Amino acid sequence: MATPPQIVLRKGRARPLWFGHPWVYANAIARTDGEPAAGDVVSLVDHDGRLIGRGFYNPRSQIPIRLCTRADEPVDAAFFRKRIQRARAARSRLGLPSESTTAYRLINSEGDDLPGLVVDVYGDAAVAQVTTLGIANRRNEIFDALEAELPIKTLFEISPASYAELEGFAPASRVARGAQRTSIPVLENGIALEVEPLSGQKTGMFIDQRETRARVGTLARGARVLDVYAYAGGFALAAARGGAAAITAVDSSARAVARIEAHAAQNGAKIGAVEADAFRYLETTTPKSFDLIVIDPPKFARARKDLEAARKGYERLNALALQAAAPGAVLVTCSCSQNVDAETFERIVAAGAKQAGREVRIFERRGPAADHLLPPGFTEGQYLKVLFCYVV
Ligand code: SAH
Repeated sequence: MATPPQIVLRKGRARPLWFGHPWVYANAIARTDGEPAAGDVVSLVDHDGRLIGRGFYNPRSQIPIRLCTRADEPVDAAFFRKRIQRARAARSRLGLPSESTTAYRLINSEGDDLPGLVVDVYGDAAVAQVTTLGIANRRNEIFDALEAELPIKTLFEISPASYAELEGFAPASRVARGAQRTSIPVLENGIALEVEPLSGQKTGMFIDQRETRARVGTLARGARVLDVYAYAGGFALAAARGGAAAITAVDSSARAVARIEAHAAQNGAKIGAVEADAFRYLETTTPKSFDLIVIDPPKFARARKDLEAARKGYERLNALALQAAAPGAVLVTCSCSQNVDAETFERIVAAGAKQAGREVRIFERRGPAADHLLPPGFTEGQYLKVLFCYVV
């Protein structure tokens, strides 16, 4: 085997990588030995020539190298099978899948040393999301390995155009292997859901909120519940299971509202599904009329330049939600903007409370569910923040 091309780091830039950080930014690179092509696997060495690991190379990206191993090993079919086996062992240790939960994240990109690959398992199907050229170039090998390691009948590929354009490969939204299907039945903590990978958002479901949905269920008994940005109704269904008195779920997408209604019927839950913009809806709700409110909006800050607008948006949204909260209510407020860090988000919620003329106390802080493993210190991967607030 020919020695792969080698990237040499600038002096003083290796420390985070030695401690497990998986990314190399362009400004950390001193020199490139050899002529790696975009998508190739390269070796990464520190300024003194010591091997840190090997990873996918893409000079088009602001992150030209993403490590996938700390060893001097080939990144081939056997490597992918080992990675998948290791990922399965970790999920199995976390109790996934189980009799009551068949939707889980098997591979979480950097957290499973496969940067640019997410694999969500939905019962007897799986969805692979590809976001780097390194993974895209090897997708056939990877899909072979997934089929060999997992008892799946259908493998979907969802490779969003945004990443594909940035990295330089063809986007995809298709059944890559096995039986053609559009809808996959799964269970989440005993709740029956239908996942539609090719017409849904993300890989079809927001698995990252699974544990938070279950927690919301424990706070729902007797409550008047409002689930805003409800998507397929996950929080609303958990609240129904938890014994809520009345449930309203709001989403601006007609498709989402139809899915909420189907899921409610399927699970014998009574949920009033409303197609509306979240802000418009909250502006016209009766003040102090809900005991449990969940707000789980899409990313407001896509990039750093959006930060100020996002801050204002989150602040207003939290203020409106708090106006709708009865005294003694619980507000569960979420942000999935990586650019808004945990401390900033807390300040935003404080400002929202001030704007609404209400007081809140935080009693719980949560992130994504346990199957979303991450290397320590990889703050770039920490996007989801959830605050549980008691409304005074
Ligand atoms: N809470 C959901 C996930 C929410 S994803 C769960 O647990 O599964 C965000 C949702 O917000 C999407 O379903 C999207 O259709 C909806 N959305 C986006 N913009 C919106 C708006 N302005 N008003 C209401 N809903 C909106």
